[in-house]
Amino acid sequence: MISIKRTVNRSIDLFHKLASVGVFVAVSFFSASIFAATESAIVWQGSWQQGGLLLGQIKPDYHISVAGEPIKTTADGRFLFGLGRNAQGSSTFLVSGPNGTVVEEHYPVVTRDFKIQRIEGVPQSTVTPPAEQLQRIKSDSALVREARREVTDKTDFIEGFVKPLQGPKTGVYGSQRFYNGVPKSPHYGVDYAAPTGTEVKAPAAGIVRLAHRDLFYSGGTLIIDHGHGLSSSFLHLSDILVTEGSRVERGDAIAKVGATGRATGPHLDWRMNWRNVRVDPELVLQAFPAQ
Ligand SMILES: [Zn+2]
Repeated sequence: MISIKRTVNRSIDLFHKLASVGVFVAVSFFSASIFAATESAIVWQGSWQQGGLLLGQIKPDYHISVAGEPIKTTADGRFLFGLGRNAQGSSTFLVSGPNGTVVEEHYPVVTRDFKIQRIEGVPQSTVTPPAEQLQRIKSDSALVREARREVTDKTDFIEGFVKPLQGPKTGVYGSQRFYNGVPKSPHYGVDYAAPTGTEVKAPAAGIVRLAHRDLFYSGGTLIIDHGHGLSSSFLHLSDILVTEGSRVERGDAIAKVGATGRATGPHLDWRMNWRNVRVDPELVLQAFPAQ
């Protein structure tokens, strides 16, 4: 279990201010309110590990913000929050209550040891791309960014997730990768090996935001939006069975496994993003299995 520290900075500051100007009569009153405020207005589900995705639910009439920005909540107070691979220290939320109370809550991030993975035999042009490809790589990433930009009110994530296919796991989230001996950015997906042509199923319902047959690194690439800024990406596909803008249901066949882009053999690379944060699909599956 993770111990959760909560502080009530604002109430305490007020207490100190009152004490310093000699309002000692306030002591018992403010002690009582500090005690009451330590009961959190949020219930959480999910993992506080690096790469974890959390589903919170906040009491009615309460509001939550992180890093000065309000978090989108559903009508019944549910919201997502994600931790990146390199998240450190603790996550701090400001919770405003109905009586103007503001409580700061801190949740420590649990760090992980990430593997080192060496991959030999990928096309050298995908390790050190030729100059003429740099423009294409740039426009690819602009397309992907645009596909993930919108944070919609859809709540498909609430129904939970299933594995997009059955197959041996050959890569994990967060590993530091060396391609043909050259250190590259960490791997953010979970890889499942499967023969070319194996059907990929939607892990959860959502809207197709990108269906592109040939991105430089990721080859055939599909992005599905599950709502509130949470999306799944599927890489190296040999075929895509859905079109941009269409809606898919959990379990629908959406694509076929391939080895397109920077890949040594046929496999599915499944990634998940919450806004700009890359989260670990395996932690999402563990925390939110579909009923
Ligand atoms: Zn991969």
